[in-house]
Amino acid sequence: MNFKCRHCDEKLTNVILDLGNQPPSNSFLTLDETKNTQETFPLKVFVCSKCWLVQLPEYKKAKEIFSGEYVYLSSTSQTMLNHAREFSKNIINRLNLDQSSFVVEVASNDGYLLKNFVMESIPCLGIEPTELAGNIAIRNGINTEKIFFNDKNIKLLTYKYPKLDSGVDLVIANNVLAHVPDINSFIEGLFNIISPKGIISIEFPHLLQLINNNLFDTIYHEHFSYLSLSVVRRMLKKYGLDVFDIEELNVHGGSLRVFACREGAYKIDKSVSDFILLETNPLHGKSLESKDLGAYRNLQNSAQLVKKELCEYLYALKSKNKNVIGYGAAAKGNTLLNFCKINKELLSFVVDNAKSKQGKYLPGSHIPVIAKDNCNYKDIDSTIVLPWNLINEIIPLIDSKEIITAMPRLTYWRK
Ligand SMILES: [Zn+2]
Repeated sequence: MNFKCRHCDEKLTNVILDLGNQPPSNSFLTLDETKNTQETFPLKVFVCSKCWLVQLPEYKKAKEIFSGEYVYLSSTSQTMLNHAREFSKNIINRLNLDQSSFVVEVASNDGYLLKNFVMESIPCLGIEPTELAGNIAIRNGINTEKIFFNDKNIKLLTYKYPKLDSGVDLVIANNVLAHVPDINSFIEGLFNIISPKGIISIEFPHLLQLINNNLFDTIYHEHFSYLSLSVVRRMLKKYGLDVFDIEELNVHGGSLRVFACREGAYKIDKSVSDFILLETNPLHGKSLESKDLGAYRNLQNSAQLVKKELCEYLYALKSKNKNVIGYGAAAKGNTLLNFCKINKELLSFVVDNAKSKQGKYLPGSHIPVIAKDNCNYKDIDSTIVLPWNLINEIIPLIDSKEIITAMPRLTYWRK
Protein backbone atom coordinates (compact mmCIF):
# COMPACT_ATOMS: atom_id res chain seq x y z
CA MET A 1 0.00 0.00 0.00
CA ASN A 2 1.31 3.45 -0.94
CA PHE A 3 1.06 6.24 1.60
CA LYS A 4 1.65 9.96 1.20
CA CYS A 5 2.95 12.49 3.71
CA ARG A 6 0.04 14.14 5.54
CA HIS A 7 1.77 17.50 5.40
CA CYS A 8 3.53 17.78 2.02
CA ASP A 9 1.98 14.91 0.01
CA GLU A 10 5.34 13.31 -0.79
CA LYS A 11 5.27 9.52 -1.21
CA LEU A 12 6.39 7.83 2.03
CA THR A 13 9.18 5.33 1.48
CA ASN A 14 11.43 5.42 4.59
CA VAL A 15 10.25 3.00 7.29
CA ILE A 16 12.14 3.79 10.51
CA LEU A 17 10.39 1.40 12.91
CA ASP A 18 7.99 -1.54 12.58
CA LEU A 19 6.20 -2.62 15.78
CA GLY A 20 4.05 -5.24 14.05
CA ASN A 21 0.27 -5.32 13.77
CA GLN A 22 -1.54 -4.03 16.84
CA PRO A 23 -5.09 -3.11 17.87
CA PRO A 24 -5.75 0.57 18.76
CA SER A 25 -4.18 1.19 22.17
CA ASN A 26 -7.21 2.65 23.91
CA SER A 27 -9.79 0.13 22.62
CA PHE A 28 -10.37 -1.77 25.85
CA LEU A 29 -12.54 -4.86 25.59
CA THR A 30 -15.41 -6.39 27.54
CA LEU A 31 -15.18 -10.10 28.41
CA ASP A 32 -17.52 -10.92 25.52
CA GLU A 33 -15.44 -8.91 23.07
CA THR A 34 -12.29 -10.87 24.00
CA LYS A 35 -13.92 -13.92 22.38
CA ASN A 36 -13.90 -12.23 18.96
CA THR A 37 -10.83 -11.51 16.90
CA GLN A 38 -9.85 -7.90 17.46
CA GLU A 39 -8.95 -5.89 14.38
CA THR A 40 -5.28 -4.94 14.18
CA PHE A 41 -3.43 -2.38 12.08
CA PRO A 42 0.27 -2.03 11.18
CA LEU A 43 2.26 0.07 13.62
CA LYS A 44 4.84 1.10 11.08
CA VAL A 45 6.54 4.50 11.34
CA PHE A 46 7.78 6.50 8.33
CA VAL A 47 9.84 9.65 7.99
CA CYS A 48 9.05 11.90 5.01
CA SER A 49 12.11 12.47 2.86
CA LYS A 50 10.89 15.92 1.80
CA CYS A 51 9.53 17.68 4.94
CA TRP A 52 10.96 15.29 7.61
CA LEU A 53 7.63 14.73 9.35
CA VAL A 54 7.84 11.42 11.25
CA GLN A 55 4.45 9.76 10.97
CA LEU A 56 2.14 6.78 11.04
CA PRO A 57 -0.15 6.57 8.05
CA GLU A 58 -3.84 6.73 9.02
CA TYR A 59 -4.38 2.96 9.03
CA LYS A 60 -7.38 3.42 11.28
CA LYS A 61 -9.57 6.49 10.87
CA ALA A 62 -9.31 9.03 13.70
CA LYS A 63 -13.12 9.13 13.92
CA GLU A 64 -13.12 5.43 14.84
CA ILE A 65 -10.32 5.80 17.40
CA PHE A 66 -11.75 8.80 19.26
CA SER A 67 -15.24 7.35 19.44
CA GLY A 68 -17.57 6.67 22.36
CA GLU A 69 -15.32 3.82 23.46
CA TYR A 70 -12.28 6.05 23.88
CA VAL A 71 -11.51 5.94 27.58
CA TYR A 72 -8.55 8.22 28.26
CA LEU A 73 -9.31 10.83 30.94
CA SER A 74 -6.67 13.43 31.80
CA SER A 75 -8.00 14.00 35.35
CA THR A 76 -6.92 10.53 36.50
CA SER A 77 -3.28 11.66 36.67
CA GLN A 78 -2.28 13.95 39.52
CA THR A 79 0.90 14.86 37.62
CA MET A 80 -1.18 16.10 34.66
CA LEU A 81 -3.53 18.04 36.99
CA ASN A 82 -0.59 19.80 38.66
CA HIS A 83 1.02 20.49 35.30
CA ALA A 84 -2.25 22.03 34.03
CA ARG A 85 -2.74 24.18 37.15
CA GLU A 86 0.80 25.54 37.01
CA PHE A 87 0.53 26.33 33.29
CA SER A 88 -2.85 28.07 33.70
CA LYS A 89 -1.63 30.25 36.58
CA ASN A 90 1.45 31.37 34.64
CA ILE A 91 -0.27 32.07 31.34
CA ILE A 92 -3.15 34.01 32.97
CA ASN A 93 -0.53 36.32 34.52
CA ARG A 94 1.68 36.52 31.44
CA LEU A 95 -1.19 37.53 29.13
CA ASN A 96 -3.20 39.49 31.74
CA LEU A 97 -6.28 37.43 30.93
CA ASP A 98 -9.58 38.57 32.47
CA GLN A 99 -13.37 38.51 31.98
CA SER A 100 -13.02 40.25 28.62
CA SER A 101 -10.64 37.59 27.22
CA PHE A 102 -11.53 34.44 25.32
CA VAL A 103 -9.60 31.20 25.68
CA VAL A 104 -9.98 28.07 23.54
CA GLU A 105 -8.54 24.70 24.39
CA VAL A 106 -8.34 22.12 21.63
CA ALA A 107 -8.72 18.52 22.85
CA SER A 108 -9.84 19.76 26.24
CA ASN A 109 -10.63 16.22 27.42
CA ASP A 110 -12.59 16.21 30.71
CA GLY A 111 -11.85 19.89 31.39
CA TYR A 112 -8.87 19.16 33.67
CA LEU A 113 -7.08 22.30 32.40
CA LEU A 114 -9.90 24.71 31.53
CA LYS A 115 -11.39 24.44 35.02
CA ASN A 116 -8.49 26.65 36.13
CA PHE A 117 -9.75 29.37 33.77
CA VAL A 118 -13.39 28.88 34.81
CA MET A 119 -12.32 29.38 38.43
CA GLU A 120 -10.88 32.79 37.46
CA SER A 121 -14.09 33.68 35.53
CA ILE A 122 -12.19 33.84 32.22
CA PRO A 123 -14.54 32.96 29.32
CA CYS A 124 -13.41 29.79 27.62
CA LEU A 125 -14.43 27.05 25.23
CA GLY A 126 -13.24 23.46 25.11
CA ILE A 127 -13.20 21.51 21.85
CA GLU A 128 -13.33 17.78 22.56
CA PRO A 129 -14.46 15.09 20.13
CA THR A 130 -14.75 12.14 22.53
CA GLU A 131 -18.16 11.56 24.13
CA LEU A 132 -17.04 10.35 27.53
CA ALA A 133 -14.53 13.11 28.26
CA GLY A 134 -16.65 15.86 26.64
CA ASN A 135 -19.73 14.93 28.70
CA ILE A 136 -17.76 14.95 31.96
CA ALA A 137 -16.45 18.44 31.14
CA ILE A 138 -19.98 19.70 30.39
CA ARG A 139 -21.31 18.18 33.64
CA ASN A 140 -18.55 20.03 35.49
CA GLY A 141 -19.67 23.35 34.03
CA ILE A 142 -17.00 23.72 31.36
CA ASN A 143 -18.30 25.12 28.10
CA THR A 144 -17.45 22.33 25.60
CA GLU A 145 -18.25 21.53 21.97
CA LYS A 146 -17.96 17.85 21.08
CA ILE A 147 -16.39 18.15 17.64
CA PHE A 148 -13.03 17.63 15.93
CA PHE A 149 -10.99 20.80 15.62
CA ASN A 150 -10.36 21.73 12.00
CA ASP A 151 -10.84 24.78 9.86
CA LYS A 152 -14.24 23.68 8.52
CA ASN A 153 -15.80 22.74 11.88
CA ILE A 154 -14.60 25.95 13.51
CA LYS A 155 -16.13 28.13 10.78
CA LEU A 156 -19.48 26.45 11.49
CA LEU A 157 -19.25 27.52 15.14
CA THR A 158 -18.52 31.23 14.63
CA TYR A 159 -22.27 32.10 14.69
CA LYS A 160 -22.34 30.82 18.28
CA TYR A 161 -18.94 32.13 19.34
CA PRO A 162 -18.10 35.26 17.26
CA LYS A 163 -14.64 35.42 18.84
CA LEU A 164 -13.70 32.27 16.92
CA ASP A 165 -13.33 34.62 13.94
CA SER A 166 -9.80 35.96 14.66
CA GLY A 167 -10.66 37.02 18.20
CA VAL A 168 -9.20 34.36 20.51
CA ASP A 169 -6.59 35.64 22.99
CA LEU A 170 -5.16 32.26 23.90
CA VAL A 171 -5.40 28.90 22.17
CA ILE A 172 -4.12 25.91 24.09
CA ALA A 173 -3.33 22.79 22.10
CA ASN A 174 -1.63 20.33 24.43
CA ASN A 175 -0.83 16.85 23.18
CA VAL A 176 -3.17 17.10 20.23
CA LEU A 177 -1.08 18.11 17.20
CA ALA A 178 0.30 14.58 17.08
CA HIS A 179 -3.25 13.15 17.17
CA VAL A 180 -4.68 14.83 14.07
CA PRO A 181 -4.54 13.11 10.69
CA ASP A 182 -5.25 16.31 8.72
CA ILE A 183 -2.54 18.39 10.32
CA ASN A 184 -2.73 21.13 7.66
CA SER A 185 -6.41 21.90 8.24
CA PHE A 186 -5.76 21.87 11.98
CA ILE A 187 -3.02 24.50 11.70
CA GLU A 188 -5.10 26.60 9.32
CA GLY A 189 -7.87 26.52 11.95
CA LEU A 190 -5.41 27.78 14.58
CA PHE A 191 -4.42 30.68 12.34
CA ASN A 192 -8.03 31.62 11.67
CA ILE A 193 -9.17 31.79 15.29
CA ILE A 194 -6.20 33.55 16.88
CA SER A 195 -6.39 37.33 17.34
CA PRO A 196 -3.63 39.56 15.85
CA LYS A 197 -1.87 39.71 19.25
CA GLY A 198 -3.10 36.33 20.52
CA ILE A 199 -0.89 33.45 21.57
CA ILE A 200 -1.09 29.77 20.70
CA SER A 201 0.47 27.38 23.19
CA ILE A 202 1.23 23.96 21.77
CA GLU A 203 2.69 21.06 23.75
CA PHE A 204 3.96 17.89 22.16
CA PRO A 205 6.28 15.03 23.11
CA HIS A 206 9.63 15.91 21.58
CA LEU A 207 10.78 13.60 18.79
CA LEU A 208 14.38 14.15 19.86
CA GLN A 209 13.58 12.49 23.23
CA LEU A 210 11.82 9.59 21.52
CA ILE A 211 14.89 9.02 19.38
CA ASN A 212 17.56 9.60 22.04
CA ASN A 213 15.78 7.52 24.72
CA ASN A 214 14.16 4.98 22.42
CA LEU A 215 10.65 5.64 23.73
CA PHE A 216 9.03 3.39 21.14
CA ASP A 217 6.05 2.63 23.40
CA THR A 218 4.83 6.23 22.89
CA ILE A 219 4.03 5.12 19.34
CA TYR A 220 0.42 4.02 18.86
CA HIS A 221 -2.37 4.52 16.37
CA GLU A 222 -3.72 7.63 18.08
CA HIS A 223 -0.39 9.35 17.51
CA PHE A 224 -0.26 10.06 13.82
CA SER A 225 2.79 12.38 13.96
CA TYR A 226 6.01 12.50 16.00
CA LEU A 227 7.15 16.07 16.11
CA SER A 228 10.39 17.97 16.11
CA LEU A 229 10.53 21.72 16.61
CA SER A 230 12.05 22.13 13.14
CA VAL A 231 9.08 20.45 11.46
CA VAL A 232 6.45 22.18 13.64
CA ARG A 233 8.00 25.56 12.96
CA ARG A 234 7.98 25.04 9.19
CA MET A 235 4.40 23.73 9.20
CA LEU A 236 3.16 26.72 11.22
CA LYS A 237 5.11 29.15 9.04
CA LYS A 238 3.36 27.82 5.96
CA TYR A 239 0.06 29.00 7.48
CA GLY A 240 1.30 32.43 8.59
CA LEU A 241 2.30 31.59 12.16
CA ASP A 242 5.64 32.20 13.89
CA VAL A 243 7.09 30.11 16.69
CA PHE A 244 8.49 32.81 18.99
CA ASP A 245 9.31 31.05 22.28
CA ILE A 246 10.06 27.55 23.56
CA GLU A 247 9.99 25.81 26.94
CA GLU A 248 11.22 22.33 27.75
CA LEU A 249 8.89 20.18 29.87
CA ASN A 250 9.35 16.99 31.82
CA VAL A 251 5.99 15.41 30.96
CA HIS A 252 5.59 12.41 28.61
CA GLY A 253 9.29 11.60 28.68
CA GLY A 254 10.31 15.08 27.51
CA SER A 255 8.00 17.52 25.74
CA LEU A 256 8.26 20.95 24.20
CA ARG A 257 5.90 23.85 24.78
CA VAL A 258 5.91 26.07 21.73
CA PHE A 259 4.43 29.56 21.76
CA ALA A 260 3.21 30.75 18.36
CA CYS A 261 1.59 33.91 17.06
CA ARG A 262 0.63 35.56 13.79
CA GLU A 263 3.74 36.34 11.75
CA GLY A 264 5.65 39.27 13.20
CA ALA A 265 3.37 39.80 16.23
CA TYR A 266 6.13 39.05 18.74
CA LYS A 267 9.94 39.10 18.75
CA ILE A 268 11.41 35.64 18.23
CA ASP A 269 13.35 34.41 21.28
CA LYS A 270 16.82 32.94 20.90
CA SER A 271 15.60 29.66 22.45
CA VAL A 272 13.96 28.85 19.10
CA SER A 273 17.17 28.81 17.06
CA ASP A 274 19.01 27.05 19.92
CA PHE A 275 16.54 24.17 19.80
CA ILE A 276 16.59 23.95 16.03
CA LEU A 277 20.37 23.60 16.24
CA LEU A 278 20.01 20.82 18.78
CA GLU A 279 17.82 18.88 16.35
CA THR A 280 19.59 19.48 13.09
CA ASN A 281 23.24 20.15 13.79
CA PRO A 282 25.18 16.88 13.56
CA LEU A 283 27.75 18.30 15.98
CA HIS A 284 25.19 17.82 18.75
CA GLY A 285 24.56 14.20 17.78
CA LYS A 286 22.76 12.87 14.75
CA SER A 287 20.66 15.34 12.82
CA LEU A 288 16.95 14.48 12.56
CA GLU A 289 17.09 15.80 9.00
CA SER A 290 20.06 14.09 7.42
CA LYS A 291 19.65 12.18 4.16
CA ASP A 292 21.35 9.06 5.55
CA LEU A 293 18.59 8.75 8.23
CA GLY A 294 21.37 8.07 10.75
CA ALA A 295 19.35 9.38 13.70
CA TYR A 296 16.67 6.74 13.12
CA ARG A 297 18.86 3.74 12.39
CA ASN A 298 19.03 2.31 15.89
CA LEU A 299 15.31 2.45 16.75
CA GLN A 300 14.37 -1.08 15.69
CA ASN A 301 17.30 -2.75 17.46
CA SER A 302 16.69 -0.80 20.64
CA ALA A 303 13.05 -1.88 20.68
CA GLN A 304 14.11 -5.52 20.22
CA LEU A 305 16.50 -5.15 23.15
CA VAL A 306 13.71 -3.92 25.45
CA LYS A 307 11.58 -6.87 24.34
CA LYS A 308 14.37 -9.34 25.08
CA GLU A 309 15.11 -7.87 28.53
CA LEU A 310 11.49 -7.71 29.61
CA CYS A 311 10.58 -11.19 28.34
CA GLU A 312 13.63 -12.76 29.99
CA TYR A 313 12.67 -11.08 33.26
CA LEU A 314 9.05 -12.25 33.09
CA TYR A 315 9.88 -15.83 32.04
CA ALA A 316 12.46 -16.11 34.84
CA LEU A 317 9.83 -15.11 37.43
CA LYS A 318 7.22 -17.38 35.88
CA SER A 319 9.59 -20.34 36.10
CA LYS A 320 9.79 -19.68 39.86
CA ASN A 321 5.98 -19.43 40.09
CA LYS A 322 6.20 -15.76 41.02
CA ASN A 323 3.21 -13.47 40.50
CA VAL A 324 3.81 -10.38 38.36
CA ILE A 325 1.22 -7.66 37.74
CA GLY A 326 1.12 -4.37 35.87
CA TYR A 327 0.21 -0.93 37.19
CA GLY A 328 -1.48 1.67 34.98
CA ALA A 329 -3.40 0.56 31.88
CA ALA A 330 -1.90 3.35 29.78
CA ALA A 331 -1.95 3.29 25.99
CA LYS A 332 1.85 3.14 25.92
CA GLY A 333 1.67 -0.01 28.04
CA ASN A 334 -0.41 -1.66 25.35
CA THR A 335 2.15 -0.88 22.65
CA LEU A 336 4.85 -2.41 24.85
CA LEU A 337 2.87 -5.51 25.87
CA ASN A 338 1.64 -6.22 22.34
CA PHE A 339 5.05 -5.68 20.76
CA CYS A 340 6.60 -8.02 23.36
CA LYS A 341 3.67 -10.48 22.98
CA ILE A 342 3.06 -10.55 26.74
CA ASN A 343 -0.25 -12.06 27.85
CA LYS A 344 -1.94 -12.94 31.15
CA GLU A 345 0.20 -16.04 31.55
CA LEU A 346 3.10 -13.66 32.22
CA LEU A 347 1.25 -10.67 33.69
CA SER A 348 -1.81 -11.70 35.74
CA PHE A 349 -3.64 -8.38 35.65
CA VAL A 350 -3.16 -4.61 35.53
CA VAL A 351 -4.32 -2.27 38.28
CA ASP A 352 -5.81 1.05 37.17
CA ASN A 353 -7.78 3.68 39.07
CA ALA A 354 -9.88 4.78 36.06
CA LYS A 355 -13.38 3.35 36.55
CA SER A 356 -13.88 3.40 32.77
CA LYS A 357 -11.14 0.78 32.36
CA GLN A 358 -11.83 -1.44 35.38
CA GLY A 359 -13.51 -4.74 34.58
CA LYS A 360 -12.29 -4.51 30.99
CA TYR A 361 -9.45 -6.24 29.16
CA LEU A 362 -6.39 -4.74 27.50
CA PRO A 363 -6.56 -4.64 23.69
CA GLY A 364 -4.48 -7.37 22.12
CA SER A 365 -3.05 -9.00 25.24
CA HIS A 366 -6.50 -9.50 26.88
CA ILE A 367 -4.97 -8.92 30.33
CA PRO A 368 -7.74 -7.97 32.83
CA VAL A 369 -7.83 -4.48 34.38
CA ILE A 370 -8.88 -4.33 38.03
CA ALA A 371 -9.36 -1.70 40.75
CA LYS A 372 -6.64 -1.28 43.37
CA ASP A 373 -9.05 -2.36 46.14
CA ASN A 374 -9.43 -5.77 44.49
CA CYS A 375 -5.72 -6.36 44.49
CA ASN A 376 -4.12 -8.22 47.37
CA TYR A 377 -0.51 -7.08 47.44
CA LYS A 378 0.57 -9.94 49.71
CA ASP A 379 0.46 -12.30 46.75
CA ILE A 380 2.44 -10.07 44.41
CA ASP A 381 6.14 -10.51 43.81
CA SER A 382 6.71 -7.86 41.18
CA THR A 383 4.85 -4.90 39.65
CA ILE A 384 5.74 -3.47 36.28
CA VAL A 385 4.71 0.19 36.03
CA LEU A 386 3.53 0.74 32.46
CA PRO A 387 3.17 4.57 32.47
CA TRP A 388 6.85 5.02 33.39
CA ASN A 389 6.47 8.80 32.97
CA LEU A 390 4.33 8.81 36.16
CA ILE A 391 6.64 6.52 38.17
CA ASN A 392 7.21 8.98 41.05
CA GLU A 393 3.48 9.44 41.50
CA ILE A 394 2.82 5.69 41.34
CA ILE A 395 5.58 4.21 43.55
CA PRO A 396 3.93 5.27 46.86
CA LEU A 397 0.71 3.53 45.74
CA ILE A 398 2.37 0.16 45.23
CA ASP A 399 3.07 -2.41 47.87
CA SER A 400 4.97 -5.09 46.02
CA LYS A 401 8.28 -6.81 46.68
CA GLU A 402 9.76 -5.53 43.46
CA ILE A 403 8.86 -2.56 41.24
CA ILE A 404 10.19 -2.25 37.69
CA THR A 405 9.81 -0.19 34.54
CA ALA A 406 10.78 -1.55 31.13
CA MET A 407 11.44 1.72 29.30
CA PRO A 408 13.87 2.89 28.05
CA ARG A 409 15.71 -0.04 29.73
CA LEU A 410 14.69 -2.47 32.48
CA THR A 411 14.97 -0.50 35.74
CA TYR A 412 14.40 -1.54 39.37
CA TRP A 413 12.84 1.03 41.71
CA ARG A 414 12.93 1.39 45.49
CA LYS A 415 10.08 2.70 47.60
ZN1 LIG B 1 6.33 15.49 3.98
